[in-house]
Amino acid sequence: MVVKKPEGLVLITPEGLRHDGRRPDELRPIKMEVGIFKNADGSAMVEYGKTRVIAAVYGPREPIQKFPLLPDKATLRVRYHMAPFSTEERKNPAPSRREIELSKVIREALEPIVLTEEYPRTVIDIFLEVIQADGGTRTAAVTAASLALADAGVPMRALVGGVAVGKVDGVLVVDIDETEDMYGEADLPVAAAPDIGLVTLLQLNGVMTREEFSRALDMALTAISKIVEMEKRTLRSGYVEAGGSEL
Ligand code: ADP
Repeated sequence: MVVKKPEGLVLITPEGLRHDGRRPDELRPIKMEVGIFKNADGSAMVEYGKTRVIAAVYGPREPIQKFPLLPDKATLRVRYHMAPFSTEERKNPAPSRREIELSKVIREALEPIVLTEEYPRTVIDIFLEVIQADGGTRTAAVTAASLALADAGVPMRALVGGVAVGKVDGVLVVDIDETEDMYGEADLPVAAAPDIGLVTLLQLNGVMTREEFSRALDMALTAISKIVEMEKRTLRSGYVEAGGSEL
């Protein structure tokens, strides 16, 4: 759906900068922290600009309620949820269709990474709570989940990270915010594990030429490599923030 742009909103300036002053290939300021909750086995907070997501991981463990377990591997369960106060208009706290679908998409972005075969007949629960939403919550959620899994000591093949590339006023831009998502022509959320060369989430809303799609994917993968490097630094030191030319 194309929403009419508010008068006066300039998505790309004559100098080629975005509405918040970023260059097309510039990520928002990013913050990452692990070990934020004492009661979870692993936890993390990730901020991409004003988008803030927290993740809590429990397990591998026996399920608290009866649940059909897999004989040869652990079951990954993901709940993505937006807090009622995370959006401009209060969001109904009940899980929406969108949240149920995103929980599945995020689970599938993580499953190829986790060594589930090491923990048969157990569950690993990943709770993702969007505290503040300003675009790119599914991709920030994948990054937060990856950090929280590592913080919990869950064995993984590699770290995974996510970012959304958009097309606004005909220009490809990395790490779109809600304004760019709403008034842009296309949105391409991507999650990947660069260290093992896997893309684990790829969705396209809107229209791109084949050439733009290929360039947008390259831009996403370049950004994800930086995000995953930042995840590694965060796991070593507990907290990292970076932005602009540092990223
Ligand atoms: P993503 O957050 O992964 O980009 P969408 O493209 O569905 O997912 O959403 C884009 C942005 O729109 C979100 O980040 C959020 O800022 C806003 N948004 C999504 N769902 C809602 C909702 N139910 N109420 C208000 N704002 C929402």
